[in-house]
Amino acid sequence: MKRFWMFICMILIAIIIYYQYIKEDVPLPTALHPVVEERTNLLIQNMADKGITVLITDGFRSVEEQDILYEQGRTTEGSIVTYAKGGESLHNFGLAVDFALKTGSGQVIWDMEFDGNGNGVADWMEVVENAKELGFEWGGDWIGFEDYPHLQLDFGLSLHELQRGKMPSEKALTAY
Ligand SMILES: [Zn+2]
Repeated sequence: MKRFWMFICMILIAIIIYYQYIKEDVPLPTALHPVVEERTNLLIQNMADKGITVLITDGFRSVEEQDILYEQGRTTEGSIVTYAKGGESLHNFGLAVDFALKTGSGQVIWDMEFDGNGNGVADWMEVVENAKELGFEWGGDWIGFEDYPHLQLDFGLSLHELQRGKMPSEKALTAY
């Protein structure tokens, strides 16, 4: 009988190890996470109320698209815009968006000093402030490579966990 329980225990441990460490090759998401999409829309709405037009320039990105972007400034023309290869960016998990501003004349800008609504605060920082209130992490706070248009919501999951196929739990979703 003792052996039987030991056997059961071993099976359980094997299952736990499998799900914690080995579970891989899970299909990656193919679109923006619904909660991230909802918060992004809220951000756009909040900013519109303040007279700021936010333009989302990028959201979900496939691993292939990320790899192409990674080559920019390295093997292809242009300047470096990312340090993340395919599968290393939160865009690949549908948990990040990039934004720009649209001026009254319809021009798309990345000017962080622009104060279109004339309230004495740069529009860019007004967007960032509200994004943080909505739970987003701002790429401009990163040390080493500041990614000013980048906003992400990781729900407390590490990149490693995401790569293993872990997705935010219901609890994490409500906490954010
Ligand atoms: Zn980004």
